[in-house]
Amino acid sequence: MSACAVMIECDFQLQLDAYHDRELDAESRRRFEQHLKDCPTCPGELAAMQALSSRIEAATPDEIRPTTPSQSASHCERPDCSPR
Ligand SMILES: [Zn+2]
Repeated sequence: MSACAVMIECDFQLQLDAYHDRELDAESRRRFEQHLKDCPTCPGELAAMQALSSRIEAATPDEIRPTTPSQSASHCERPDCSPR
């Protein structure tokens, strides 16, 4: 049935976020970088993550319209609203 089920649940994928945000300590970083050489999935995930964030940083001001409707940004006034 699923002949192309090469999706590997990799434990290190949980650290991708932290690694990308440089929240890992030196030892964890080294182990993660070592793992990147062997893992078939993590490098791709990391590359996608980096491409996404760099695209956000390089977003041209033209695409971010300064016209902010006053009705927006009002959903977080509640103190119990904690965005993730
Ligand atoms: Zn991996």
